Amino acid sequence: MAKEELDCSFCGKKKADTNLLIAGIDAHICDRCIEQANGIVLEETKQDNGSGLTSDVMLKKPQEIKAFLDSYIIGQEQTKKVMSVAVYNHYKRLLQPPTEDDIEIQKSNIIMVGQTGTGKTLMAKTIAKMLNVPLAIVDATVLTEAGYVGEDVESMLTRLLQAADYDQEKAERGIVFIDEIDKIARKSDNPSITRDVSGEGVQQALLKLLEGTVVNVPPKGGRKHPDQKFIEVNTENILFIAGGAFDGVDRHISKRLNMSAIGYKVSHDEEQIDTENLLQYIIPKDLKDFGLIPEIIGRLPVLTYMNPLDEETLRAILTEPKNALVKQYKKLFEMDEIALSFEDDALDFIVKKAIEYKLGARGLRSLCEEILTDAMFVMPSNDETALVVTEAYVKKHLTRTQIKRLKAVS
Ligand code: ADP
Repeated sequence: MAKEELDCSFCGKKKADTNLLIAGIDAHICDRCIEQANGIVLEETKQDNGSGLTSDVMLKKPQEIKAFLDSYIIGQEQTKKVMSVAVYNHYKRLLQPPTEDDIEIQKSNIIMVGQTGTGKTLMAKTIAKMLNVPLAIVDATVLTEAGYVGEDVESMLTRLLQAADYDQEKAERGIVFIDEIDKIARKSDNPSITRDVSGEGVQQALLKLLEGTVVNVPPKGGRKHPDQKFIEVNTENILFIAGGAFDGVDRHISKRLNMSAIGYKVSHDEEQIDTENLLQYIIPKDLKDFGLIPEIIGRLPVLTYMNPLDEETLRAILTEPKNALVKQYKKLFEMDEIALSFEDDALDFIVKKAIEYKLGARGLRSLCEEILTDAMFVMPSNDETALVVTEAYVKKHLTRTQIKRLKAVS
């Protein structure tokens, strides 16, 4: 009997006329029909409110957002909570149907204050990852007013477009993380006697972007050029997250709290003030005293702070987050069929050194790299199948000169 010729149960095409025919229980489907069906599914799941957001973005409630952040970021409880609410409200705002009343929900751009290396960038990255939206990380120090040497503030939108693979719609609901926002603070309390190119002018230029405006963005970056084609980007639904160390802002905080930074509480408040971590008391006025203009502060209405990383947090950062360093190295070794493990004393020692040499969380990575480089060089070529990293092993591979060298580059 001649073999029965198969065809697509949807369009009827013969197997020979398709690129691929997939068999189901009682039917077959060809590659073209799969593509078409996929298109229909995508169309159907898109919420038709013009935001371009699919409904799954809304599935996460603040507590779920926080739980997601918890699996990547250790500690920083207050900031994770504040961020979860701000992000939730931001995307709720995008999904609101055209309003009948006049209540317009305003943007919840965020400003995070905290020492370098405490996880500000990580926070922005994790949120972008969770929402599956493009993220641009820009450094405020390179920004200048239009017409000066440096980058226009619009360049951050070029970055966002690039992160969105030039998909304008995607970019328009992405996140821009502006790092080192404190570096564009006004240098003196006397505004505009001389023009302050790097500071106040940039703050002024940022205002419109933060609030929401349509900008002609040169897709390849660089200065605006008459022949270059622009892409119009509306910043209204872009979430801006700013971060900065604001070194010295604690002086303003302690002054406001009517106490000296090193002394004990002198205010009549019942609550004992934690002089070790004054950032937790920060309010918008402190940012103004530091040199941000009130209009910028107003457009970054969610203010939060990062705690300095103590020994316990650093120790947890090594092992607990989803992509913790120890897990990453284990995976690398596993690929060569080597079982890598760390003894507790070894991890404690690494953390002690990171604290002693003030290397912070970033330093943990360099320390681990120093410790494991020899093993990573030699072991793939020999037949050892396990490496147990003990305190003695760490000490052997981490000499003082090596740590000092790490300190110099950190
Ligand atoms: P910042 O932006 O505040 O300077 P980063 O977010 O770049 O700091 O942090 C540097 C690195 O330190 C991150 O890549 C991350 O691996 C680690 N790190 C810092 N803080 C935390 C934290 N709270 N939880 C987990 N990892 C952290």
